[in-house]
Amino acid sequence: MNSTRVAVAGSSGSIGTQTLDVVRAERDRYDVVALSVSSSVELLIEQAREFRPQVVAVDDPVRRSEVASALPGVQVVDSLSDVVGDPSFACDVVVNAVVGFAGLPITMRTLGAGRRLALANKESLIAAGPVVRPLRVTPGAEIVPVDSEHCAVHQCLRSTVRPGVEVSRIVLTASGGPFRGRTLDDLAHVTVDDALAHPTWSMGPKITVDSSTLMNKGLEVIEAHELFGVDYENIDVVVHPQSIVHSMVEFTDGCTMAQLSLPDMRLPIGYALAHPERIATPFGRIDWAHLSRLDFAEPDTATFRGLSLAYAAGRLGGTAPAFMSAANEVAVEAFLAGRIRWIDIVATVEVALDDHDERGVKVDDMTVDHVIDADRRGREAADRVLARVTA
Ligand code: MG
Repeated sequence: MNSTRVAVAGSSGSIGTQTLDVVRAERDRYDVVALSVSSSVELLIEQAREFRPQVVAVDDPVRRSEVASALPGVQVVDSLSDVVGDPSFACDVVVNAVVGFAGLPITMRTLGAGRRLALANKESLIAAGPVVRPLRVTPGAEIVPVDSEHCAVHQCLRSTVRPGVEVSRIVLTASGGPFRGRTLDDLAHVTVDDALAHPTWSMGPKITVDSSTLMNKGLEVIEAHELFGVDYENIDVVVHPQSIVHSMVEFTDGCTMAQLSLPDMRLPIGYALAHPERIATPFGRIDWAHLSRLDFAEPDTATFRGLSLAYAAGRLGGTAPAFMSAANEVAVEAFLAGRIRWIDIVATVEVALDDHDERGVKVDDMTVDHVIDADRRGREAADRVLARVTA
């Protein structure tokens, strides 16, 4: 069997390192051909020595020569998106594990080159849905979601041959995050460490904070709409604290398919790498004899307003999701830097979103420049709110 050639964008982060864990467990199956980092060059050098890619990309220009001298024989470049966007580069699947809006070029160039995209960077799809959509019809292009909920939906959808007419509802599950059950009064003084202590999932800091505000779930609602073409009124969210049911699809005959596994990101990563096959390594198995209960409840949207805010931006469509997601990135960074309180995160995004307007651009005419402009305006709007909050 020929190895599947894998490029990992964002190899030093949580998803990137877990992708390399999967590759390490399935060495015969995968060959790492390219890695990229923003600035974590020490880890990149270590990874490159272990996995021997042909190319590594480093954003930070100052550190690039350091990497080149540490890795003789490896091509060191400034942009992985140029590499994967070149159809002559031999690569079967690109894992986009870049954090935030910065992941957009990888998404666009991978799909444009007709490759399979294992997508962990939800922001690119959320912000640039109208621009990414046409690229998905490139022959060979395919998105396999790494986000656990969407990976679950992707698996459930394989039980129908007519997804366009037989799906009646997508139900995304949410763990509820570290503050489930708390009141706004309780939440006025929570710390960064409190927000980063996720009860079930081990993830990077940005997404863990998003999970504490339910903004992550809101972004995932938009992501589900983009990925699967299901209307917002047919996408529901249910709180499921055990994080065993990763999401569900309800069909027109009233049957529901759910995907269950332990909460370990290496499962959706392995699924996306191997699709349409499956890897041989189980990253944990459910112990049914000791799994005594699975709970489900309605989300508390009054306390965790990130969810309804994202539904609103999703329904507005156009550049509103890009604008909101950018404002949220700024607010989360400010919280992580200790500049604002947890309760100010979503409040900042909410006020910033009032400044959004489409500037007369129709969805069908949207280009990547409109998305980049909306992203910039979202950041500026959030900065203006923060200047008032922190004054
Ligand atoms: Mg998720």
